[in-house]
Amino acid sequence: MSDTFQGLKQAALAAWGPLERRAGRAYFAGPKVADALSVSQGFWDAGMGVVICFWNGEGASPRTVANRCLTALEAFAEAEGDHYLAIKAPSLGFSRELVGEIVASAARGSVRVHFDAQRPEAVERTRKLAESVMGSGATIGFTLPGRFARSARDAAWAARRGLPVRVVKGQVPDPAAPGLDPRAGFLAVVDALAGKARHVGVASHDATLVREALERLVSNGTPCELELLLGLPFGPALREARTFGVPARIYVPFGEARLPYHITEARRNPRVFAWLARDLWRAETGKREKMPGWTSAPA
Ligand SMILES: Cc1cc2nc3c(=O)[nH]c(=O)nc-3n(C[C@H](O)[C@H](O)[C@H](O)COP(=O)(O)OP(=O)(O)OC[C@H]3O[C@@H](n4cnc5c(N)ncnc54)[C@H](O)[C@@H]3O)c2cc1C
Repeated sequence: MSDTFQGLKQAALAAWGPLERRAGRAYFAGPKVADALSVSQGFWDAGMGVVICFWNGEGASPRTVANRCLTALEAFAEAEGDHYLAIKAPSLGFSRELVGEIVASAARGSVRVHFDAQRPEAVERTRKLAESVMGSGATIGFTLPGRFARSARDAAWAARRGLPVRVVKGQVPDPAAPGLDPRAGFLAVVDALAGKARHVGVASHDATLVREALERLVSNGTPCELELLLGLPFGPALREARTFGVPARIYVPFGEARLPYHITEARRNPRVFAWLARDLWRAETGKREKMPGWTSAPA
C-alpha cells in the first residue's frame, strides 16, 4: 500500500469519531430520557411497542450507566406505553449487583430487561450474568446474532430457560466463524427457536429475511414480533410484518449518538458514503425516517 493511501486512510479514520457522533444523531432519540419518551410516544400512538436503551459514551462508569437505566425505567413506568429495557453487559461492567438493581426496579413495573448482543467473547459472561438474575421477578431477554457460531446452541438454552429472544444478524463477525453468512446464520437461529421459544423478536430491516423468518415462526404458532432500529428504513420490513399480522416494536436509544455502520465497511459497501451524507444532513435538519401508516391487522 502506498504511503499516500496509508496517510489518507489514517486521516479518514481520525476524522471518523467526530463525524460518527454528528451523523449518529439520526439514529438516537437525543441525550436525555425525556427525548426517548417523546420519540416513543409517537410509536405508541401508532400502535407499536418500543425498546429503550441508554447508549453510553466511552469512559462512562458502570454505576453511571446503571443510574441512567434506572432513571429510564422510572420515567417510562409513568408513561405506561408498551416497552422493555435493553442493557449492554460490558457497559455495566458485567456487575451482578448493578444488573440486580436494574432487574429489581424493572420487576416492580413488570418490565422485561433484555441483554443486547455485544462482541462474541462477551457472550459467555453475559449468559452467566443473565442466569444469575433469572427468578428475580422480571422477565429476562437475550439477543442472538446469526453471525456467531454458537448462537444456535444458545437458542436451545434460551428456549429451555423460557426467555424471549431477539434475533439479529450481528454487528461484529465471529472469529470462530468468519465465513458464516449473517442471513443463513439468522435463519438457523430462527429454526432453532421456532416452535420452542417463548417469544421471538425478528430484528432486521432486510425485508426478504424478515419474510422468511416470520413465515417459519408464524407457521408453527411461535409468538413473535418485528423489531426495528430508529433511523433505519422502516417501510419494507413493516409491510412484511403487516402481511403476517405480527406486531412491531422500535428500538429507541438515548444518550450518546453512534452509527449502525463504520467507515471501514465502505470498501465492501460503497453505499456507506451515501448513508453518511444523508445522516449528516438529517442530523443538521433534525429530519427523521418517515413513519409509514401502521396497523398490526393482517392486510
Ligand atoms: C431492533 C434491533 C436491535 C438490534 N440489536 C442488536 C444487538 O443487540 N447486537 C448487535 O450486534 N446488533 C444488533 N442489531 C443490529 C443488527 O445486528 C444489524 O447490524 C442491523 O440490523 C443491520 O442488519 P439488517 O438485517 O437490519 O439489514 P441490512 O441488510 O444491513 O439492511 C437492510 C436494508 O436497509 C438498508 N440500510 C442498512 N443500513 C442503512 C442505513 N444506515 N441507511 C439507509 N439504509 C440502510 C440496506 O441497504 C438494506 O436495503 C439490532 C438491530 C435491530 C433492528
